[in-house]
Amino acid sequence: MTASSPPDPLVLLAPRLLDGTGAAALPDAALWLDGARIAWVGPAAELPPGARGVATAELPGCTLLPGLVDVHVHLVASAGPDLASDIPRSEAERTLAAVANARRHLDAGVTLVRDLGATAAEAIAVGRAIEAGVVEGPRVIAAGPAVTMTGGHISYLGRVADGPEQLRAAVRANFAMGAVCIKVVATGGVLTKGLDPRVASYTQTELDALVDEAHRLGLQVAAHAIGEGGVAAALRAGVDSVEHGMFLDDESIELFLETGARYSATFSAREWIMRGETVPSWAKERARPAAEAHVPSFQAAVKAGVRIVAGTDAGTPENHHGRVAHEVVSMVEAGLDPLAGVRAVTAEGADLLGEPDRGVLRAGAVADVLAVDGDPSRDVTALTRPAAVFQSGRRVR
Ligand SMILES: [Zn+2]
Repeated sequence: MTASSPPDPLVLLAPRLLDGTGAAALPDAALWLDGARIAWVGPAAELPPGARGVATAELPGCTLLPGLVDVHVHLVASAGPDLASDIPRSEAERTLAAVANARRHLDAGVTLVRDLGATAAEAIAVGRAIEAGVVEGPRVIAAGPAVTMTGGHISYLGRVADGPEQLRAAVRANFAMGAVCIKVVATGGVLTKGLDPRVASYTQTELDALVDEAHRLGLQVAAHAIGEGGVAAALRAGVDSVEHGMFLDDESIELFLETGARYSATFSAREWIMRGETVPSWAKERARPAAEAHVPSFQAAVKAGVRIVAGTDAGTPENHHGRVAHEVVSMVEAGLDPLAGVRAVTAEGADLLGEPDRGVLRAGAVADVLAVDGDPSRDVTALTRPAAVFQSGRRVR
C-alpha cells in the first residue's frame, strides 16, 4: 500500500445504493470510482460513455453506501473489563494498540473516526501514519487528551485543568500536540469513582472559556455530559456535539435545536457495561440510573428533531472497536428510522467532523465506500455484514 499511486478506476454495480443523505435507496445502481474520488453515481442503465472500458465489480445482493463514521472512539483502549487499569502503561504499547484498533474499524467498513481521549498524542500519531500510508486504518480526527477537572472523570485519558485560564491553556496544549478537536468532560462519568455522572464538573464560565478558545483556533468541541445540567451548560457554551446525554430535559433538547449541536448517544458504551460479564459490579451500579433514562432521552431528542450522529465510545469495557453498525441497530431499536440511522452513521457524522466530502456518495466526493450484504433500509442489521470496503477508491477488504 502506498499513498501516492492512485488506484485503477472501477465501476461498482449493486441492486441498490444509499447515498448517505437519508434519501431512499436507488435501485440497480452504478458507482464509478475514478482514483480516490467518485466520478459518477446513478442508475446502471445510464452509466456515462466515459465509464465504458472501465473494470466493473458486481456485488449481488448488496447495498452500496458511504464508508461508516464513528464519532466517538478511544483507539488506545482495547475494551478490557476495567478501562482505567487495562490501558497499557507505556506510550509505545498504547500506540501499537491504537494501530491494531484502527484496523478493526476499517475491516468493519468504518472509514472515518473521531478519537475522543488518549493519554497523549497516540491517536494523533496513528492518524498521521494512516494518512502517510505507513499503516492501514480509517481517517482519524483526534482530540488528544480529554480536558477534565481535578478529581474528574478519565484523568488517565486526559489533561487536568481548572478555571478559565487553565482551560484555555489546555486547549492550546492540545492544539500544539496536533489535536484537531477538543474533548471536554462536562460531568462525572460512569467508569470513574467519585463525582456523580449527574453532576456538572465545570462552571458555565469555565466551559464558555474552553469553547471560545477552541473555536477561535478552529477546533470543534465534543462534550462528555451525562446529567442534564452538564448537557445544558455545554450546549450554552456552544459545543459541537454532546456525548452520552443520558439525562435530557426540555431545556437541553431546546438548546440542541437552537444551536444545531449533534447528539451522540453512545448506546454501545452503556449496553456493554450492563451486559458485559467481565465488567465490575461497581461500574454496573453507577451506570444503572443513567441506563434507565437513556432510551427515553434519545426518543425525546429524535421526536424533537435533534441531529443524531453515531458514536460507540469503543475501547470502554467489552465495547470493541469496529462495531458502529451495532450502535445504529440500537438506535433503530429505540425508534430511529433506518434511513435516518444510515444518515447518522454517514453524512451527518462526516459533516460534524468537518469532512463533508466523506459520508456521501456523490460525484466529486472521496471514494470511501462500503458494500453490505442486504438492504439496511429494510433490515438495519445489514450494516453489520460488510461485503467489501473501499477507501479512497482502493479495496481494503
Ligand atoms: Zn469516551
